[in-house]
Amino acid sequence: MEIKKVDVAVLGGGPGGYPAAIYLANAGKKVALIEAKYVGGTCLNWGCIPTKALVTSVNLLRDIKNAESFGLHVSQAKADWPLMVAQKNEIVSGLRSSLDKLIRASGVEIIQGQGVLTSPKKIEVKGKTPTSMEADAIILATGSEPKDIKAFPFDGKFIHSSTTILDLESIPESILIIGAGAIGCEFASIFAALGSKVILVEALSRILPLECETISAAVAEGFKKDGIEILCGHTVEATKSLKDGIEVTLSDKRTLKVSCVLSAVGRRLNTDSFSAVPIKMEKGAVIVDEYLSTSVPGIWAIGDITGKMMLAHAATHQGITAARNILGEKVRMNYDAIPAATFTYPEVGSIGLTLEAAKKKGIKAKAYSYPFSALGRSLASRAPEGFAELVVEEDTGKIIGAQVVGHNACELIAIIGVALANEIPIECLADTIQAHPTFAEAWLEASLIACKTPLHFPKTLASKLTRG
Ligand code: FAD
Ligand code: NAD
Repeated sequence: MEIKKVDVAVLGGGPGGYPAAIYLANAGKKVALIEAKYVGGTCLNWGCIPTKALVTSVNLLRDIKNAESFGLHVSQAKADWPLMVAQKNEIVSGLRSSLDKLIRASGVEIIQGQGVLTSPKKIEVKGKTPTSMEADAIILATGSEPKDIKAFPFDGKFIHSSTTILDLESIPESILIIGAGAIGCEFASIFAALGSKVILVEALSRILPLECETISAAVAEGFKKDGIEILCGHTVEATKSLKDGIEVTLSDKRTLKVSCVLSAVGRRLNTDSFSAVPIKMEKGAVIVDEYLSTSVPGIWAIGDITGKMMLAHAATHQGITAARNILGEKVRMNYDAIPAATFTYPEVGSIGLTLEAAKKKGIKAKAYSYPFSALGRSLASRAPEGFAELVVEEDTGKIIGAQVVGHNACELIAIIGVALANEIPIECLADTIQAHPTFAEAWLEASLIACKTPLHFPKTLASKLTRG
């Protein structure tokens, strides 16, 4: 067994762990990154990147199929699924190889293998070269896995996880998706565009239940236009594999026969490898303070296992924050300005508080929106559906949240990310200049409405775009 001594050991090389390792190595620390599978973690290998490679293909397919509305005649647009999958895999492996080189070039030693925390300063790595690692500080960044449910267990044939669905052999004729969170909804959009009959089953009363109600409703409307059948307030009680598909029994006892099922009901946090050390946990997640320190001094935790926001960029920011604190700074993690981008059709971008969440917190707030249908750019782009909405604290004029749905929403939310991170008040946003014609003008118009100086909307009707 090889014995190694480092300043910092990072357990897990996903978007939480590897940025922390690079940051620390750049600051002169001796760092080891222990990774059981592939650097880049869920995000690069089975999450953000492969799904967005597929989303990009199907969005182009939609546009081509819709060519007439752009004044174009295009014949025979057809998805070649095996080619799409092969290209997706090529994108992932290319990125993975570049990332591996970047991490090593930063001076981080990558140790391949499954690490187990045996004491607060020790990790035993089972791998090609079994290693016993001693470190002054340890960052836990072990991420999460798809949650397997007894009533519909993954079999990789008829019942898929978000991982096995990525490499299906062919486009399913029909697919029932359990769970209408980000994963379920993104895959619903992908398969609907590919021509599958999609049934989306959600236990709660609306799809994308973490978004505000108006956003859920707008996405549901888009999904219905896409032919997606939405069954909210339902769960799946049982499944029965058939020769050529699967029979699904819903909570109302209805049975449906489909080609396959995607179970997307949430993620299980990978915490088994540090159960030997009494780190305080709550509801399966590691408890961390605002500096990302766990209850055990010298052990830090970041990413999905902290149960905060299961987003790659949130994990990365936590990683950098933990690294800076290990280096002796005292930096707090701020969750108020983390954007979320959901790559459905229509897309969704959101950040900070919704109006409803603000009210629940006792904050006096109003929401001001602007419809894409009133923008020159959205009409020119044949994309009039959607809107951008700003949530503003009444007493201070502080922007406390924003939501946007429609064309390019995932990119558009970035502007408000900058505004929120810098606590820019609504008057300052109203005083910015947005290029014309762009979708970003929706933020400017919404802020002008908030400041009672609407421009491209009649002042007398502006109350129609105000909530709260
Ligand atoms: P992970 O990325 O899960 O990485 C953890 C790493 O630790 C893994 O590589 C694992 O092999 C390794 N590991 C675990 N245990 C051990 C051990 N004992 N020893 C050694 N190594 C270990 N987020 C977004 O922001 N945008 C998106 O568009 C997006 N799309 C997604 C799509 C899908 C289908 C899924 C599933 C997720 C998506 N996410 C997205 C969420 C995002 O992938 C996660 O929030 C993010 O990857 C979490 O990062 P992490 O570093 O905490 O964990
Ligand atoms: P999730 O928790 O966001 O959604 C799961 C959904 O399944 C919930 O709406 C829940 O009510 C529903 N559900 C649970 N049990 C059910 C049952 N038995 N029957 C019917 N419905 C049931 O989880 P997810 O969609 O699996 O995503 C996991 C994480 O990955 C999320 O936190 C998400 O933020 C992240 N993610 C992000 C992106 C993105 O940023 N674009 C994309 C994909 C995933």
